[in-house]
Amino acid sequence: MCGIVGFAGKTKCIPIIYSGLEALEYRGYDSAGIAYIYNDKINIIKEKGKLINLKKKLDFDINSTIAIGHTRWATHGNANITNAHPHQVGKFTVVHNGIIENYIELKNKLSKKGYQFKSETDTEVISALLDYNYKLEKDILKAIDKTKKELIGSFALGILCSDDIKDIYALRYSSPLILASFTNGNFLASDIPAILNYTNKYIILENLEIAKINKETITIYNKDLKEVKHSYHTYNGEKSNVQKNSYEHFMLKEINEEDKVYKNTINSYFDGTLKSLNENFGFLKKYKKIDIVACGSAYHTGVIAKSLLENYANIKVYTEVASEYRYKKCFYDKDTLVILVSQSGETADTLAALRKAKNDKIKTLAIVNAIDSSIAREADYVLYTKAGPEIAVATTKAYLAQLTVFSLITLYLAYINNQLSSKEIDNIIKDIIKLPRLIKKEINNYQIYYNIADKIYENKQVFFIGRGLDYANSLEGALKLKEISYINSVAYQAGELKHGTISLIENKTPVIAIATDEVIIDKTISNIKEVKARNAYVIYVSSINPKDIFYDDFIKIEKVHPILQSILTIIPLQLLAYKVAKNNKCDIDKPRNLAKSVTVE
Ligand code: GLU
Repeated sequence: MCGIVGFAGKTKCIPIIYSGLEALEYRGYDSAGIAYIYNDKINIIKEKGKLINLKKKLDFDINSTIAIGHTRWATHGNANITNAHPHQVGKFTVVHNGIIENYIELKNKLSKKGYQFKSETDTEVISALLDYNYKLEKDILKAIDKTKKELIGSFALGILCSDDIKDIYALRYSSPLILASFTNGNFLASDIPAILNYTNKYIILENLEIAKINKETITIYNKDLKEVKHSYHTYNGEKSNVQKNSYEHFMLKEINEEDKVYKNTINSYFDGTLKSLNENFGFLKKYKKIDIVACGSAYHTGVIAKSLLENYANIKVYTEVASEYRYKKCFYDKDTLVILVSQSGETADTLAALRKAKNDKIKTLAIVNAIDSSIAREADYVLYTKAGPEIAVATTKAYLAQLTVFSLITLYLAYINNQLSSKEIDNIIKDIIKLPRLIKKEINNYQIYYNIADKIYENKQVFFIGRGLDYANSLEGALKLKEISYINSVAYQAGELKHGTISLIENKTPVIAIATDEVIIDKTISNIKEVKARNAYVIYVSSINPKDIFYDDFIKIEKVHPILQSILTIIPLQLLAYKVAKNNKCDIDKPRNLAKSVTVE
């Protein structure tokens, strides 16, 4: 969500800022802008829509060596040029990621002091507040410090002041910001891909710290304005992870990496022995109840994990979306572990839920993909999903890696709670080992899913149905389809349809019916027949061969132990969604209105 890149150095900076913004495009945005120093003055160029629109207005050869750039994901005000960042008021020019919750109060106060506002954004208020505080303090650092104390909400800021055109200032609270340096200058950025063309070493700016960067140095001030030093982290991933290579879309590339990702995640925690599970997950033993809190697809892994942990490990689990959980009465106690699941580790709602649990002295576990992200750093325990950087906004491989971690956790807790026979454990281990091959097989069957996509892509709505675990799979299948193809796709519990929703079934309405659970398959098939009797177009997704023909298309998936089954079930649904979106000429990697890392609440 939103990208910030700042550079102060010895070389021309517009190409550096622009390529940094390009590398952050995956985060989602709807307008972009740059402020650069030229002839000792701050110049601002902004444009709405994609970066390419901004590019047309930029002079890549201009002799400017200091700039801040921004891709905006609008939260306050439309995505137009006026609302695009940077925002300049008086002597201060600002790019901002996040939301200022008290911006109305601040705006009223500043209006009374004579400030006028051009945009509808909360960000412009920050610029004005900085300018106002600078008039009082007469010192840039002190003005930033005073401003940060008055802001409520989340903010990562890149700041230029016309009284100091050699430096860029940065400040963050809750929204991420890193700093980096290479021979020709110093950076600030929202995320690692922005710096990878120049360096893989970076510093994480902590909450409420201020940084000052210029062509020579990076100086960091802690929340009491004392100078502090932070050690550098090293990004060890391949740069190709953030490039599309020969694939048409990042989403397709990332789906094709799923077998590798699965192996990577398994190998991080499991060497084929239960001892290795004990070493990695032993800390889980002391908890009798689990709350799983997440957003979007990560929430769906929590719905699946609830079903697995309750049925196989006999542990009570409560799963909730983070934006609800944080405002709900929680019944947790010292026996509860709160598990936060997030790809980016910066999801603002999930971070807030984590802080609520910590505040109540409840232990927390982060299941997170992005190394050193806020959720990973603030939780008591962390299990990384090891999926590598995920660029497409719609998650695929990171989702699969989250499921993989939950499968291992379920196996471990089922084992220590004596819920599985040793024969069953042996069979699960055999399935774990053969899964990469089966994942690859599902991916290689893409033509089957593509043919089905070609039949349904023009529909305005699609239903997904399933029971139990398959309902959870339906939730993710429906989300994948709607987020990238804009088709209204909704998941229902198969048995619930007849209580209302079945009225929506018309001639040829696509219904994707998922049935991998042997115990209730007959009931699910009865529900499928109910929609078929109303002329739905039924796509049957199952690991079990049907006894009669009640479907129009059949996607056969390999059968593995239920603890692992969802890892396979999701693959055809991801590829089906991909092809439907492609047929509809949608912007697959950057769907409208969506952001990758949702750093606002
Ligand atoms: N709240 C700010 C705006 O709407 C910043 C949004 C962002 O993080 O891109 O302009």
